[in-house]
Amino acid sequence: MSKDMMANFELYQPDSVANAIDLLGRFGEDGWAIAGGHDTLDWFKDRVKYAANVVDLSGIDELRGIRETENGIEIGALTTLTEIERSPLVQENFTVLSDAARHVASPQIRHTGTIGGNVNQDTRCWYYRYGVDCYRAGGTTCYADTPEGQNREHCLWGADRCVAVTPSDTAPALVALDARMVVRGADGEREVAAEDYFIGPEIDIERMTILEPGELLVAVRLSNEWAGATFYFEKVADRNTWDFPLVNIAAAMFVEDGMISRIRMAAGAVQCVPRRLTVVEEVVTGSAKDEETAALAGQAAVRGATPLNYNHFKIPLLENLVKRAIRDA
Ligand SMILES: Cc1cc2nc3c(=O)[nH]c(=O)nc-3n(C[C@H](O)[C@H](O)[C@H](O)COP(=O)(O)OP(=O)(O)OC[C@H]3O[C@@H](n4cnc5c(N)ncnc54)[C@H](O)[C@@H]3O)c2cc1C
Ligand code: SF4
Repeated sequence: MSKDMMANFELYQPDSVANAIDLLGRFGEDGWAIAGGHDTLDWFKDRVKYAANVVDLSGIDELRGIRETENGIEIGALTTLTEIERSPLVQENFTVLSDAARHVASPQIRHTGTIGGNVNQDTRCWYYRYGVDCYRAGGTTCYADTPEGQNREHCLWGADRCVAVTPSDTAPALVALDARMVVRGADGEREVAAEDYFIGPEIDIERMTILEPGELLVAVRLSNEWAGATFYFEKVADRNTWDFPLVNIAAAMFVEDGMISRIRMAAGAVQCVPRRLTVVEEVVTGSAKDEETAALAGQAAVRGATPLNYNHFKIPLLENLVKRAIRDA
């Protein structure tokens, strides 16, 4: 197939969420929402995925910006990663999210890439991105999970036919902050915990979030429950710029008199969904924030990991990131 130019599509530019939802509802599987376009245009330019009708969200003002609410802040889905990185409201109280946003891709991508696009982007499994007919693309095999399959970027948990991982740097931060994802569709609005927003192949192998066709993420809400906590975000990638995480870690914790009283922690790129490290949370709650607790946390984090042929290195990597999150936060 020639890959020299994008296929034609009809472009719609609604100026309200209601109109966008109406259009997406009408188009169903033939519709595609576009925000900054960094993931979308990759698919279109490679001619691997295609939609006849593209609904451009960029003219919808109500989706933009960061506002204070009664008990926290609300970030519109169209807010750029740069705006999040620089927002005093995020920097002051939810630093783990501004840090995560700062670690995404390059400044150019962060200037136009949105939080909505970042959490809804598709997986980067390169077989799938190349357009092969794997399970996730509706076929009957997984090319990454074969004896010769190139799977160093793939999962340690949650394999179910597909072994792809979430590529988002902001998603684990949102899980650590217990963010609420505000979803709107033809039937109205609902709020879903970030932890439940992302889904693995055991639930639906062709989607990565609970969004149904015709639904939009309109905002992300952060509650003051975690405002001002002690935060930690770290990402390891093959290169320090322009690269997806091999593993990332996000943590929010409260420390009183040297003891960890409350904590939430999540890792990205080790499972299809951001992996909440509840076992670590249980191990460290009520313990001193010290080297010994950090070591126990690291060991607990990797229990039950099932590596593929080429991603064993992710186990010590995750263990060390968790250790550092406890020790250095
Ligand atoms: C070279 C390169 C390097 C990258 N490196 C990283 C990295 O290190 N870390 C990282 O996390 N990401 C990385 N990315 C991914 C990039 O950050 C995301 O693709 C970008 O944030 C997506 O934002 P967007 O607004 O451009 O998305 P779009 O392409 O516009 O949208 C992405 C997907 O989300 C859907 N979508 C967008 N907004 C909404 C909404 N409001 N409701 C429902 N669905 C929506 C779209 O339909 C589409 O399916 C990289 C991308 C590139 C091209
Ligand atoms: S890991 Fe998932 S996306 Fe990649 S080839 Fe296997 S089924 Fe396809």
